[in-house]
Amino acid sequence: MDDPSTAKSDKLVGEPQPVAAIAMPSDSASMPPFPRIGHELPFVQPSSYLRPKPGSRTVPMFATPMSPIDEEQMQGLKGLRDFLRVRTSYDVLPLSFRLIVLDNDLLIRKSLNILIQNGIVSAPLWDSHHSRFAGLLTATDYINLIQYYCQFPEHIDDVDKFRLSSLRDIEKAIGVLPLETVSVHPSRPLYEACSRMLKSRARRIPLVDIDDETGRETVVSVITQYRILKFIAVNTEQHTMLLKKTVREIGLGTYKNLATAKMSDSVLEVINLMVVHNISAVPIVDKNNVVLNVFEAVDVIPCIKGGVYDELKSNVGEALARRPEDFQGIYTCQEDDRLDSIFTTLRQSRVHRLVVIDDNWHLRGIISLSDILKYVLFYGDEGEQLPAS
Ligand code: ATP
Repeated sequence: MDDPSTAKSDKLVGEPQPVAAIAMPSDSASMPPFPRIGHELPFVQPSSYLRPKPGSRTVPMFATPMSPIDEEQMQGLKGLRDFLRVRTSYDVLPLSFRLIVLDNDLLIRKSLNILIQNGIVSAPLWDSHHSRFAGLLTATDYINLIQYYCQFPEHIDDVDKFRLSSLRDIEKAIGVLPLETVSVHPSRPLYEACSRMLKSRARRIPLVDIDDETGRETVVSVITQYRILKFIAVNTEQHTMLLKKTVREIGLGTYKNLATAKMSDSVLEVINLMVVHNISAVPIVDKNNVVLNVFEAVDVIPCIKGGVYDELKSNVGEALARRPEDFQGIYTCQEDDRLDSIFTTLRQSRVHRLVVIDDNWHLRGIISLSDILKYVLFYGDEGEQLPAS
């Protein structure tokens, strides 16, 4: 799938070594965090039970008067949400793009070569028997295939004979929850595509239209979290510049129970981590927790091209050396970086996640695109309901 952005990255890091932080000064690090509603008083009052429980999806609006920086932040978020409600998924598509759709009857082995040859990491599947959309092929499907191979080594000879239509059976055999096959009509508001994506754990959503003449489904394109955030970053600078709160203040990302690996760990071990934690990237650290690189789900693809599953026993360092030459690098930030600076980086570069580090490159956390999108869509918006699939 062509990238809609023409922005060039200025933070390329291809080698397993510490990476550059976003060089945006943060002037809001000293702002006190908001009081958490329900936690202002050291005792429980009856009304406490009427308040949303900690950990509920939406964060309640502020009980105390908002500071100017809070007000600006909410104004920026409102601007972004209004933008997403008036734009449609069609608007995100570039003027010209290609769409590679794979027939469900294709051998999985061949699909892998097609992805590699075309420099893409996912594709919609088409059921030509019933002329309908049959789901999305992503790196997760190859990871599931690898899991199958590990659980049923006696079936290794069959693995090469599997077709894309077998992917759902493979999910069942290894006991993983199948991803919902959600799609959205391209002329629906972009907000709806985003919330459906976040609700269904999908990282990309196909735009499916109905052909007026035949009444049959047509896959128009696929939009990803990356494309949407890039679209927001490029078109709404007047709103994103208001997001002056820091990563720490808004609690953006994950900081506890981080799944990490070492350069010497095997690819299979890292794949298991991704499956167990349901994540698509694992920071690679040294013995002092200094970030050296990140292993991403898509890094699995070059490891299994040609069907040589033995390469999965090779270590992470060797696998990362197989990355394509145009690999865009790893992006980092610090907890004192402001959300507006993160949007500047999203605008200028090809960012798929940010590794949060301290001054000495120690791993602090990870901010995924879904973390950013969730914050933009839902933070402080009590009344917002996710649409039914
Ligand atoms: P993608 O990166 O494929 O577009 P995504 O944006 O949902 O998808 P994931 O890496 O799957 O990114 O992250 C899902 C959730 O898990 C996020 O909340 C993220 O902060 C958290 N997370 C990501 N990587 C790790 C990790 N290594 N350890 C613990 N939590 C993680």
